[in-house]
Amino acid sequence: MTIAHHPTLETLAAFAAGTLDDARALVVATHVSLCSHCRGDVRAFEHVGGVLLDRTPPAAMRDDALERALAAIGTVAPPVHDRAPSLTIGDKSLPAPLAGHPLGPWRWIGRGVQWRSVGVSPVDDTRVLMLKAAPGTRLPHHRHNGIEWTCVLEGAFRHDLGRYGPGDFDEADESVEHKPVIEDGDTCVCLVALQGGIALQSWLGRLIQPLVRI
Ligand SMILES: [Zn+2]
Repeated sequence: MTIAHHPTLETLAAFAAGTLDDARALVVATHVSLCSHCRGDVRAFEHVGGVLLDRTPPAAMRDDALERALAAIGTVAPPVHDRAPSLTIGDKSLPAPLAGHPLGPWRWIGRGVQWRSVGVSPVDDTRVLMLKAAPGTRLPHHRHNGIEWTCVLEGAFRHDLGRYGPGDFDEADESVEHKPVIEDGDTCVCLVALQGGIALQSWLGRLIQPLVRI
Protein backbone atom coordinates (compact mmCIF):
# COMPACT_ATOMS: atom_id res chain seq x y z
CA MET A 1 0.00 0.00 0.00
CA THR A 2 1.56 3.30 -1.11
CA ILE A 3 0.30 6.13 1.05
CA ALA A 4 0.84 9.68 -0.24
CA HIS A 5 -1.32 11.78 2.08
CA HIS A 6 -0.89 11.83 5.86
CA PRO A 7 -2.39 13.75 8.80
CA THR A 8 -0.50 16.93 9.74
CA LEU A 9 2.13 16.65 12.47
CA GLU A 10 -0.15 18.79 14.64
CA THR A 11 -2.90 16.20 14.26
CA LEU A 12 -0.54 13.29 14.99
CA ALA A 13 0.74 15.09 18.10
CA ALA A 14 -2.82 15.63 19.33
CA PHE A 15 -3.62 11.98 18.59
CA ALA A 16 -0.55 10.82 20.53
CA ALA A 17 -1.48 13.10 23.44
CA GLY A 18 -5.03 11.72 23.47
CA THR A 19 -6.63 15.13 23.02
CA LEU A 20 -8.64 14.40 19.85
CA ASP A 21 -12.34 13.59 20.24
CA ASP A 22 -13.29 9.95 19.70
CA ALA A 23 -14.51 10.52 16.15
CA ARG A 24 -11.37 12.19 14.85
CA ALA A 25 -9.17 9.82 16.87
CA LEU A 26 -10.81 6.81 15.20
CA VAL A 27 -10.12 8.10 11.68
CA VAL A 28 -6.53 9.01 12.59
CA ALA A 29 -6.04 5.62 14.32
CA THR A 30 -7.28 3.88 11.18
CA HIS A 31 -4.72 5.73 9.06
CA VAL A 32 -1.95 5.11 11.60
CA SER A 33 -2.76 1.38 11.61
CA LEU A 34 -2.11 1.35 7.85
CA CYS A 35 0.89 3.74 7.77
CA SER A 36 4.27 2.80 9.25
CA HIS A 37 5.55 6.34 8.65
CA CYS A 38 2.89 7.88 10.90
CA ARG A 39 3.23 5.06 13.47
CA GLY A 40 6.84 6.19 13.87
CA ASP A 41 5.78 9.82 14.32
CA VAL A 42 3.16 8.87 16.91
CA ARG A 43 5.71 6.79 18.85
CA ALA A 44 8.09 9.76 18.82
CA PHE A 45 5.38 12.10 20.13
CA GLU A 46 4.44 9.59 22.82
CA HIS A 47 8.10 9.36 23.85
CA VAL A 48 8.37 13.15 24.11
CA GLY A 49 5.16 13.22 26.14
CA GLY A 50 6.53 10.57 28.49
CA VAL A 51 9.77 12.48 28.98
CA LEU A 52 7.86 15.68 29.76
CA LEU A 53 5.69 13.77 32.23
CA ASP A 54 8.79 12.34 33.92
CA ARG A 55 10.16 15.86 34.35
CA THR A 56 6.94 17.28 35.78
CA PRO A 57 7.24 17.85 39.54
CA PRO A 58 4.95 15.51 41.49
CA ALA A 59 1.77 17.07 42.82
CA ALA A 60 -0.13 16.10 45.96
CA MET A 61 -3.16 13.86 45.22
CA ARG A 62 -6.52 13.98 46.91
CA ASP A 63 -7.12 11.38 49.59
CA ASP A 64 -9.84 9.73 47.46
CA ALA A 65 -7.85 9.79 44.18
CA LEU A 66 -7.65 6.00 43.89
CA GLU A 67 -11.38 5.47 44.50
CA ARG A 68 -12.23 8.18 41.94
CA ALA A 69 -9.92 6.65 39.33
CA LEU A 70 -11.38 3.17 39.86
CA ALA A 71 -14.91 4.56 39.69
CA ALA A 72 -14.12 6.32 36.41
CA ILE A 73 -12.71 3.10 34.94
CA GLY A 74 -15.91 1.33 35.96
CA THR A 75 -18.02 3.76 33.93
CA VAL A 76 -16.21 3.10 30.65
CA ALA A 77 -18.38 0.93 28.41
CA PRO A 78 -16.75 -2.39 27.50
CA PRO A 79 -15.85 -2.85 23.84
CA VAL A 80 -18.49 -4.52 21.69
CA HIS A 81 -17.13 -7.84 20.46
CA ASP A 82 -20.27 -9.32 19.00
CA ARG A 83 -20.07 -7.14 15.89
CA ALA A 84 -17.08 -8.92 14.40
CA PRO A 85 -19.02 -10.54 11.53
CA SER A 86 -19.82 -7.09 10.09
CA LEU A 87 -16.20 -5.97 10.14
CA THR A 88 -15.62 -6.55 6.48
CA ILE A 89 -16.09 -4.77 3.19
CA GLY A 90 -16.84 -7.53 0.79
CA ASP A 91 -14.13 -10.11 1.45
CA LYS A 92 -11.69 -7.65 3.02
CA SER A 93 -11.15 -7.16 6.75
CA LEU A 94 -11.45 -3.66 8.13
CA PRO A 95 -8.50 -2.03 9.93
CA ALA A 96 -8.11 -3.08 13.57
CA PRO A 97 -9.13 0.28 15.15
CA LEU A 98 -12.67 -0.27 13.83
CA ALA A 99 -13.10 -3.46 15.85
CA GLY A 100 -15.68 -2.97 18.58
CA HIS A 101 -17.41 -0.05 16.84
CA PRO A 102 -20.95 -0.99 15.83
CA LEU A 103 -21.65 -0.47 12.15
CA GLY A 104 -25.08 0.51 10.86
CA PRO A 105 -26.64 -0.87 7.66
CA TRP A 106 -25.66 0.65 4.32
CA ARG A 107 -28.17 3.26 3.18
CA TRP A 108 -28.44 5.02 -0.18
CA ILE A 109 -28.06 8.79 -0.09
CA GLY A 110 -27.80 9.55 -3.75
CA ARG A 111 -26.98 8.07 -7.12
CA GLY A 112 -24.09 5.66 -6.63
CA VAL A 113 -23.46 6.73 -3.02
CA GLN A 114 -24.20 4.84 0.22
CA TRP A 115 -23.34 5.52 3.84
CA ARG A 116 -23.41 3.64 7.13
CA SER A 117 -22.97 4.89 10.67
CA VAL A 118 -19.92 3.98 12.76
CA GLY A 119 -20.55 4.01 16.50
CA VAL A 120 -18.30 6.20 18.66
CA SER A 121 -18.90 7.61 22.13
CA PRO A 122 -21.41 10.46 21.79
CA VAL A 123 -19.31 12.95 23.73
CA ASP A 124 -19.24 15.85 21.30
CA ASP A 125 -20.56 17.11 18.00
CA THR A 126 -18.33 15.05 15.73
CA ARG A 127 -19.55 11.76 14.27
CA VAL A 128 -18.09 9.01 12.11
CA LEU A 129 -19.53 7.34 9.05
CA MET A 130 -18.45 5.17 6.17
CA LEU A 131 -19.11 6.35 2.67
CA LYS A 132 -19.23 4.01 -0.33
CA ALA A 133 -19.31 5.41 -3.85
CA ALA A 134 -19.43 3.69 -7.23
CA PRO A 135 -16.58 4.11 -9.75
CA GLY A 136 -16.88 7.32 -11.75
CA THR A 137 -19.24 9.01 -9.27
CA ARG A 138 -18.86 12.79 -9.13
CA LEU A 139 -19.63 14.03 -5.64
CA PRO A 140 -21.26 17.46 -5.38
CA HIS A 141 -18.96 20.47 -5.36
CA HIS A 142 -18.76 21.59 -1.77
CA ARG A 143 -16.95 23.75 0.73
CA HIS A 144 -16.32 22.72 4.29
CA ASN A 145 -17.89 24.59 7.14
CA GLY A 146 -16.30 22.32 9.73
CA ILE A 147 -13.74 19.56 9.69
CA GLU A 148 -14.16 16.59 7.40
CA TRP A 149 -11.36 14.07 7.95
CA THR A 150 -11.30 11.08 5.62
CA CYS A 151 -9.27 7.87 5.50
CA VAL A 152 -9.66 5.83 2.32
CA LEU A 153 -10.25 2.13 3.01
CA GLU A 154 -10.45 0.93 -0.60
CA GLY A 155 -10.74 2.36 -4.09
CA ALA A 156 -9.68 5.94 -4.77
CA PHE A 157 -10.94 9.45 -5.45
CA ARG A 158 -9.33 12.57 -6.87
CA HIS A 159 -9.85 16.24 -6.21
CA ASP A 160 -7.87 19.46 -6.61
CA LEU A 161 -5.22 18.35 -4.10
CA GLY A 162 -4.43 15.00 -5.72
CA ARG A 163 -5.29 11.31 -5.76
CA TYR A 164 -6.39 9.59 -2.55
CA GLY A 165 -6.09 5.80 -2.52
CA PRO A 166 -6.18 3.13 0.21
CA GLY A 167 -4.74 4.43 3.48
CA ASP A 168 -4.56 8.06 2.34
CA PHE A 169 -5.77 10.68 4.79
CA ASP A 170 -7.61 13.82 3.67
CA GLU A 171 -7.69 16.46 6.39
CA ALA A 172 -10.11 19.11 5.17
CA ASP A 173 -11.42 22.13 7.05
CA GLU A 174 -13.38 25.26 6.17
CA SER A 175 -10.54 26.55 3.97
CA VAL A 176 -10.85 23.63 1.55
CA GLU A 177 -13.07 23.49 -1.50
CA HIS A 178 -13.71 20.02 -2.87
CA LYS A 179 -14.96 18.49 -6.07
CA PRO A 180 -14.13 14.82 -5.55
CA VAL A 181 -14.48 12.26 -8.34
CA ILE A 182 -14.33 8.52 -7.65
CA GLU A 183 -11.73 6.84 -9.83
CA ASP A 184 -12.83 4.34 -12.45
CA GLY A 185 -12.31 0.70 -11.55
CA ASP A 186 -13.10 -0.01 -7.92
CA THR A 187 -15.83 1.08 -5.56
CA CYS A 188 -14.42 3.62 -3.11
CA VAL A 189 -15.02 3.15 0.62
CA CYS A 190 -13.93 5.85 3.06
CA LEU A 191 -14.10 6.40 6.80
CA VAL A 192 -15.12 10.00 7.53
CA ALA A 193 -15.24 12.12 10.70
CA LEU A 194 -17.69 14.98 10.28
CA GLN A 195 -18.01 17.86 12.67
CA GLY A 196 -21.62 17.97 13.86
CA GLY A 197 -23.88 20.97 13.59
CA ILE A 198 -21.42 23.00 11.59
CA ALA A 199 -20.42 20.39 9.03
CA LEU A 200 -24.05 19.44 8.57
CA GLN A 201 -24.33 22.56 6.46
CA SER A 202 -22.13 20.78 3.94
CA TRP A 203 -23.51 18.69 1.07
CA LEU A 204 -22.80 15.49 2.95
CA GLY A 205 -24.43 16.76 6.09
CA ARG A 206 -27.55 17.85 4.22
CA LEU A 207 -27.83 14.43 2.62
CA ILE A 208 -27.41 12.60 5.90
CA GLN A 209 -29.27 14.91 8.26
CA PRO A 210 -32.79 13.53 7.61
CA LEU A 211 -31.53 9.99 8.04
CA VAL A 212 -29.82 10.45 11.37
CA ARG A 213 -32.25 13.09 12.67
CA ILE A 214 -29.60 15.41 14.07
ZN1 LIG B 1 0.71 8.39 7.44
